[in-house]
Amino acid sequence: MAVLCTKRIGVLTSGGDSPGMNAAVRSVVRTALERKVEVCAIYEGYQGMVEGGDRISLMSWDSVGGILHKGGTEIGSARCKAFRTREGRLKAARNLLEHSIDALVAIGGDGSLTGADVFRAEWPELLKELVQAGEISQEQADCHPALAIVGLPASIDNDMYGSDMTLGTDTALHRITEAIDAISSTAASHQRTFVVEVMGRNCGYLALMGALATGADWVFIPECPPVDNSWEEQMCQVLKTGRESGRRDSIVIVAEGAKDRQGNPISAQSIKELLENRLDEDTRVTILGHVQRGGAPSVFDRNLSTMLGHAAVEYILEGTPESEPVLIGMRGNRIVHSPLMHCVERTSGVADAIAKGEYDKAMELRGNSFKEAYHTLETLMQAQPRTPEPGQKSLRLAVLNAGSAAPGMNTAVRAFVRLGIDKGHTILGIEHGFRGLIEGKIKQLDWLSVRGWATTGGSELGTSRKIPKAKDFYAIARHIEEYSIQGLLVIGGWVGYEAAYELYSQLDNYPAFNIPILCMPASIDNNLPGSELSIGADTALNNITEAVDKIKQSAVASNRCFVVEVMGRYCGYLALMSGLATGAEQVYLNEEGITLTHLQRDLSYLIEGFKRGKRVGLVICNENANPVYNSDFISALFAEEGQQVFQVRKAILGHLQQGGDPSPFDRIQATRFAAKSLEFLIEEAQKDSPTSAFIGLQAGQTHLFDLRDFPRMVDKDRQRPKHQWWLDWQLISRILSQPAAGACPTAGVCGS
Ligand code: ADP
Repeated sequence: MAVLCTKRIGVLTSGGDSPGMNAAVRSVVRTALERKVEVCAIYEGYQGMVEGGDRISLMSWDSVGGILHKGGTEIGSARCKAFRTREGRLKAARNLLEHSIDALVAIGGDGSLTGADVFRAEWPELLKELVQAGEISQEQADCHPALAIVGLPASIDNDMYGSDMTLGTDTALHRITEAIDAISSTAASHQRTFVVEVMGRNCGYLALMGALATGADWVFIPECPPVDNSWEEQMCQVLKTGRESGRRDSIVIVAEGAKDRQGNPISAQSIKELLENRLDEDTRVTILGHVQRGGAPSVFDRNLSTMLGHAAVEYILEGTPESEPVLIGMRGNRIVHSPLMHCVERTSGVADAIAKGEYDKAMELRGNSFKEAYHTLETLMQAQPRTPEPGQKSLRLAVLNAGSAAPGMNTAVRAFVRLGIDKGHTILGIEHGFRGLIEGKIKQLDWLSVRGWATTGGSELGTSRKIPKAKDFYAIARHIEEYSIQGLLVIGGWVGYEAAYELYSQLDNYPAFNIPILCMPASIDNNLPGSELSIGADTALNNITEAVDKIKQSAVASNRCFVVEVMGRYCGYLALMSGLATGAEQVYLNEEGITLTHLQRDLSYLIEGFKRGKRVGLVICNENANPVYNSDFISALFAEEGQQVFQVRKAILGHLQQGGDPSPFDRIQATRFAAKSLEFLIEEAQKDSPTSAFIGLQAGQTHLFDLRDFPRMVDKDRQRPKHQWWLDWQLISRILSQPAAGACPTAGVCGS
């Protein structure tokens, strides 16, 4: 074997496949090439490592082109018995050394990552044995004294400690919500009950979040088995009451690992039999199975995988041979490194707790937001409000939507209404935003009035872009008094925040305004202060990405460059994140601006790429990236200058971005915000001088900001927050879409 003392990185996908694995491999390969480090793919997981030969192959920039949007894993995955044996791992070590690989990015679940750690621990001994057997030289062994390991958590179950989300979970939730939304409509037509089994042997995440996102009527998860002897009666009662009060469909979601408190499985079939026997209901079972693993990855999974893949290579290159093996995950939109085996142990801790019947511990280990989601769901699943606790003060709280409709607004209203009524309060719905408040279009919302709102896009309450001025304040004050409104929830975008701030500023003139107002961020533009994400943006991003995937596919054979204009006003979030998710060569944002020099550089890059064999180019442009160099100008310029080598087509995606049913994330986040907003309003409404605020998501946690800080935190002219956390991601988007000079000889042929 020739002695190569160069160091190479190996990347493999192992265990159960999950959507997003391709994006992670692409990111690992391209980041490494950009840093002038060679990288090999190890095909079919550990099986390929044990077999060697052409299962380990050097990757080029183009070998990971065109895979970002694909589900599964293009480099294959397997479960490998041989790797569980020392003999198998000895072969694997020899095969890695043949390719000078001494750093591994292992993309998989806890099993795969355990395997990687076992291998790392044995590495020096394995090398010694290989030297003794004459399979490798001492020099080779000395070149690669240690094996560096970075694990990326990939599992659709979201069962790994060390990351808020694992690669593939968000996509699986997309598949689950699409399926259950579809099932609900057929169930409603025949007034049927469906029992839907979702994946999750030891983890109820998919079942719980799937139920929250689809407005399901009952759920079973492994971490929290139902109460002995009474759950059958309780479930039947809720479903029966729901039917009697007009619910046409009933959906029960069961995680595949659901059990009762004695550890006996609760299967979909057993629930069906129970419901048929006790309620005489026409009940059907749907086991979603592998559909949940399949299909194109969601935007979140593509971008999460891309960011983690990039961070994995950076960690390896910055580290020493003795660097601790880490798991790289994402917590609150920030990359975090955690000791690998600590994460694996904490992960198996939940399974152990469930096996031992320590359910409180299992719920505790899942973390606060899981527990909170479960409690919220317990209320939302009721067919009718429960009797409030004695002595509970009953308040009158109002809710409105403001600004453009954002997918998830209805979900938030539904959750606010039901959680509020369940606590004994009266909830008033204001039609058409602040215009309705001025005109007195206010009505009481009851439990059933929001039926079906969990899953629908648009705004059932109606919304408007009205910002109250001068004489409007008097009318508003009158209606606040007339309807005895004691707190107001504004679910909306910039207009809503400005309007709420206007009311708050008039407090000295109108005593009626001495009520708490809370703004909840709901805008596809994601341009609101205090929140890293606003409701609706995730849906819009998925709409854009689906459309761009199709546009790109339409042109593979025709040397075409697409200039796609996306919404966002002056905020480039949609442009950047969709660019990252679709592998756009250029993304133009207002935040960065555009100069003629930029355009010339980008044009030369495109011409070069097409001359070398690129077939599709993609440029994503925010609608207000530049007043002169807009998408018309850019299309015309590129068409004129590139006409010898490529054609240009412009696509303005328009309102399709705003439409459609909310994504699972938007539904879940809307529900969480609604629960927190209600808590805030109840607390503040009971104070003599209540405060007003806007709510947001920061580093994965919900935060409240004083409404007085609104002007201080925003760039008013451009209607966006002063601080935009995602701008740093622009660099990575650029690195992965455009090979640096010398990064790869055939670079840029496939582009994406
Ligand atoms: P996942 O990574 O999705 O949890 P598995 O548990 O099936 O999937 O693990 C995938 C592969 O990782 C196994 O087939 C095996 O090759 C390897 N592996 C898992 N656990 C170990 C271990 N303790 N020692 C060595 N290899 C392991």
